[in-house]
Amino acid sequence: MNNKLYRQLTLQLEMSLKENEEKEKRIIELIIANKELSLQNEGKGNLAAELIIANKELAFQSGEKADRAAELIIANKELAFQSGEKADRAAELVITNKELIVANKELIIANKAQGEFLVNISHELKTPLNVISSTAQLFDMYCKNGSLNTLNNSIVKYIDSLKQNSYRLSKLINNIVDSSKIEAGFFELNLSNKNIVGVIEEIVRSVSAFIEIKGLNIIFDTDIEEKIIACDSENIERILLNLISNAIKFSDEGDEIFVDVKDKNEFVEISVKDSGIGIEKKYLDIIFDRFKQVDKSLSRNAEGTGIGLSLVKSIVELHGGSIYVESEYGKGSTFTIKIPSRKVINGNAIDSSNMISENENIQVELSDIYL
Ligand code: ADP
Repeated sequence: MNNKLYRQLTLQLEMSLKENEEKEKRIIELIIANKELSLQNEGKGNLAAELIIANKELAFQSGEKADRAAELIIANKELAFQSGEKADRAAELVITNKELIVANKELIIANKAQGEFLVNISHELKTPLNVISSTAQLFDMYCKNGSLNTLNNSIVKYIDSLKQNSYRLSKLINNIVDSSKIEAGFFELNLSNKNIVGVIEEIVRSVSAFIEIKGLNIIFDTDIEEKIIACDSENIERILLNLISNAIKFSDEGDEIFVDVKDKNEFVEISVKDSGIGIEKKYLDIIFDRFKQVDKSLSRNAEGTGIGLSLVKSIVELHGGSIYVESEYGKGSTFTIKIPSRKVINGNAIDSSNMISENENIQVELSDIYL
């Protein structure tokens, strides 16, 4: 082998040795890099595992939170329902409270009316009683001093006064008893089928003489001759005498009182009209209340207990009817009653006898009008 070749081969060997050396170096570097990478990977794996755990915890926590949130929603709804219920209860309590206040006020008013009634009634009872007892004392004196025969005319007058005042007491007691019976629900009507036109006409006829003595005139009018309906004629008489008695009380001499009967098919309308002092608008609603009277300072008449119209109203209502008043202060009043056109089945027979008012009934009912 020549020198040149030898040098060439040596050079090549050196170069490949160098190359090998470099490759080895490179491999070592790669191994190191690989190790580092795997180390890093290992770290990442750990981190991923940690993250998974953390994630699971978070999921668990958010699951718990959702449950808690659901519970809170339910609790909230319950609270809303409870507070709704409380609001309802509070509203109910407010209403009950208001009702109690109204009931209380009504009670106070009723108590006041009852108190006024007691004052009125004691006056109403005492006045005729005083007349009766002082007349009795007079008679006693006349008997004792032997002047009975010589004072004949006066004695007749005293006897009239005794009767008049006894009637007043009877009316008052009847009204109190019946008013209490109605209040307690014990008052019963004695209904029979009667010609209401005839009943009313007869009442008017029987009081006309009495009314004329008072310097008044009573006029009866009707648009039908006969109308048979179920009524309690005695109590119809009472109603009418009460209205006529008031019309007389509040009329002036020379005035006229009109009693009208009208057929309205389903009901009969009976009205009593006067041209007397009338009733102020503000009193129109209360005059039918028990024990209520128009302010006496405004009314010229200081007599009465305020039972009359309330009794009239109750008796009309027991007939299934109604009553109302129209009045103009200073010009007069009209009281109108509506009685339904019904018939009673039991007994069926029509009671054709128009009720002839007992004179005494009229005198009792009109007893608070002084001649
Ligand atoms: P009383 O038994 O005290 O007369 P009423 O119930 O009959 O009571 O009447 C109540 C009040 O209504 C009377 O006090 C009177 O003021 C008034 N009144 C009733 N009828 C008439 C009338 N025809 N004209 C004017 N006022 C009347």
